[in-house]
Order: sequence, then structure tokens, then C-alpha cells
Amino acid sequence: MEDFNTAKYIEQRLQRAVTYLEVLQPGFIDFLTAPKKSTIVNFPIEMDDKSVKVFRGYRVLHSHVNGPGKGGIRFYPELTYSEIAALSALMTWKCALINVPFGGAKGGVCCDSKALSENELRHITRRFISELGDDIGPHTDIPAPDLYTDERTMGWIYDTYDIMHPGRNNRPVVTGKPIDLGGSPGRQAATGQGCLYATLRFLERIKPSGISTLKNTRVAIQGYGNVGSSVARLFQKEGAVIVAISDSHGGIYCETGLDLDAIDIHKQKGNSVVGLAETLSITNEDLFQLDCDILIPAATSHQIHSENANKIKAKIVIEAGNAPVTPEANDILSRKDVFVLPDILVNAGGVTVSYFEWVQNIENEQWTLEEINQKLEHKMKHATDMVIDKWLSLKDTFGKTDETKKNEQDVSNEYPIVDLHTAALVVALNRLIITIGERGIWP
Ligand code: NAD
Repeated sequence: MEDFNTAKYIEQRLQRAVTYLEVLQPGFIDFLTAPKKSTIVNFPIEMDDKSVKVFRGYRVLHSHVNGPGKGGIRFYPELTYSEIAALSALMTWKCALINVPFGGAKGGVCCDSKALSENELRHITRRFISELGDDIGPHTDIPAPDLYTDERTMGWIYDTYDIMHPGRNNRPVVTGKPIDLGGSPGRQAATGQGCLYATLRFLERIKPSGISTLKNTRVAIQGYGNVGSSVARLFQKEGAVIVAISDSHGGIYCETGLDLDAIDIHKQKGNSVVGLAETLSITNEDLFQLDCDILIPAATSHQIHSENANKIKAKIVIEAGNAPVTPEANDILSRKDVFVLPDILVNAGGVTVSYFEWVQNIENEQWTLEEINQKLEHKMKHATDMVIDKWLSLKDTFGKTDETKKNEQDVSNEYPIVDLHTAALVVALNRLIITIGERGIWP
């Protein structure tokens, strides 16, 4: 069984990209691997039943080469330092690729948000933010929503930080806030919207298996939270047929397409998509193996791995979540000519609109949704073009032929498979390397 160590995952992705970097001063990759600053806190919370429970929280600032740290805060029971550190590196790459002036960061608290009351969640959020103190700030490190956190959580983060730092404009300390607290129009659906723009551009240019638009494509989505539900709506609006959807309880399937309004009502009542009338119940593993055109993992990391990648029938996998496909699985899919659209590109819409929110907060302005979507579309298309162009040029120069690619035993070519993942990381790293060179190493 493949090792799901996230630090190893980052190392593997880096190693592949390094082969193709244009200029590299010795030691630069070490500098871009180790997180700049890590904070681990343990703090007590008085629960509703008056018992006291200790929670552990993490915040990792991976890099500030390009600007203040930027990255989500998640509430998740199985959180580890290694996973948070790896996800913070992903944020550095993502910000560099989409070209927003942020470094990477990530954080979270080990807790099961579904088992906690609103009061308990508010206390955990406030205490965690107060423990972080000046580790976060509008020009040092700026959190955002992630797994099991939302705009309500971001509102509490803003309020806590504002109470601790009175007398100044603290709105840019966190993004993904409610609109009334300086949130940006379009932020909630931004990751899905960006995913749509990147996908449409990719289909238009590459036309995998003759697919050039989303019209009548059969789509399966794992995860029906902020990202998964926005992607479902937006892809359906473009003519896609959403045949399957899942959450942490399991999934549902309908060959002729799911009714998203009915899913939302059903999920609100019972907390899961499972059991909706006139749908077939399936497992998350069943969902991966469905006969469909596009598979979208929009939940947690390492969902598609060496054990299940071979069973995937989709022609395109879109990484709407962070790190859902392991490097081994990526290779298996590449050999099967399945395209994997990389997370640092396709889910960068969230951090892009977070950047727009941050700018609006600093300038005390509010842009319209049209303005935001226009700017987002421009950034997503441009980044997608850069990744495709890099991928095509790497393939021309180093690519294996289809024959050698399919022969797993072949070791005659010293270069790893050239995939979109690697191309995206090469674009991001080249940008970071230029910035480091221009800034110079301190002192
Ligand atoms: P969310 O908490 O809103 O939703 C997560 C969904 O995944 C829920 O439906 C949950 O039931 C489901 N889920 C959890 N574990 C699962 C499992 N093992 N199998 C199937 N489903 C499972 O989270 P989100 O904000 O939608 O984030 C989803 C992913 O997208 C995460 O990887 C996150 O890091 C990434 N991401 C989020 C944003 C954002 O703006 N929210 C931006 C970029 C990337």
C-alpha cells in the first residue's frame, strides 16, 4: 500500500518539477521546501456540559517570498502537523502560479465540527485566534475558509483579531468573511467558478477525447461542501449532467442527472446527500469507478491512490480539492491517457477572490460581482494557458512516446512522465526562483 505521508507527497511533486527547472541556484529547493514558521498550540475550552476539553491547533507559514502568508483554516479531527505543512507548501505554489502577491500558509484545529455546538465552535475559533496572537495579521498571514469552516467562522476570526487590535482597519486580516463584514461578492462560489473557467479553457484548447465543452458531459463529484456544491451548480449550468455526488456518509447516483435543488433540501434535513428519493445509493469508491467523462474529487487529500487509480473510467480528473490524487495515481492515470487537472491551478479561484477581497478591504471599496468574475476569468484563463504551454513545450523536449509511457518497466528515459501537475509546478517554481533571486538572500 502506498505511503500517504503528506511531506513525502510534497517532496515527490517537487522532485519531478525540479528536473525541468530553467535556472537553479544550489539550495533554492531546500529554501522552498521547509516551512518558514510553524506554530502549535494546545488550549482548553469549557464545553456546553461544563467539562473542559483540550484542543490542538496549527498554523504554518510556509513562505513569504511573494508576500504575506495566505491559506485556509480547517476544522478536522484527523489533522496532523505534517498535512498542514504540506498544504501550506501547496498554497505557496498556488499563489505563485495564479500570480497573487501572497506566500503560502495553512492552519487548523483538530476537532469534529459536526459533533460541536455553535457556541463550542465559536469558543474554539476565538481561543485559537487569540493563541496565534500576532502570527496572523493583514500583512503577515491572512487566513481563509477551508474544510468544515465557513464565512461564519471567518466573521469570528475577524471579530477576535479586531478586539485584540483596536483602532485600525482590521478587515484585511481574514478573507471569506460575510459581505457585511467586508466579504467580497463571489467569494463563496469563487473556487468553483475558477474551476469552471480553468476547465472550459482546458477543454477549448486540448479537446481531450473530442470533448471541447461541458455540454452533455457526464460528471461525478466527490464532496458536496462549499467547493463540490458550487462546482456542481456551475458545471450543470454549462450543460454538464451531474450523475453522481457524495459526502462523508456516501454517495448517490442517477443516470439521467441529479436534481441539485432536491439534494440541497434533502441534505439540509438529514445532513447528507444519501437517501434522496429516486437515486441509487453508492459508496465513495463506487463513485470513483463510474462510467463518466469527468471525475471531480472535492473533499480530502489522497482519495485517488495506487489501489484505485486503475479502476477510474473518467477521461478527465479535476482536482477541485487539495492533493486528492497521489503522485503514483497520477502516473497510473497518465499511462491510461487520463488528464489530471492540477489542484494548484483549478482550485486557485478561492485564493484569487480572497486576494480581491483583501485589496477591497485595504482600499475600503466594494467591487461588483461582474467585475470580480471578469478579473477571475482573466487570471484563471491566463494561468491555464501558461500551464498548457509549459506542458506542451516540456512534452516536446522531454516527453516519452506513447509506447514507452505505457510500458511500466521502461527505465530508459531519465525524465519522469510529463504531466499537467509537473508543468503547473514548474511555472510556479520558476516564478518563485526569479523572485528569490531579485530579492536576494538576507542578509
Ligand atoms: P467543506 O467542508 O465545505 O466540504 C467538504 C465536503 O467533503 C463535505 O461534503 C464532506 O461531507 C465531504 N467529505 C469529507 N470527507 C469525505 C470523504 N472521505 N469522502 C467523501 N466526502 C467527504 O470543504 P470545502 O471548502 O468544500 O473544501 C473541499 C476541498 O477543497 C478541501 O480539500 C479544501 O482544502 C479544498 N479547497 C477549498 C477552498 C475553499 O475556498 N473552500 C479553496 C481551495 C481548495
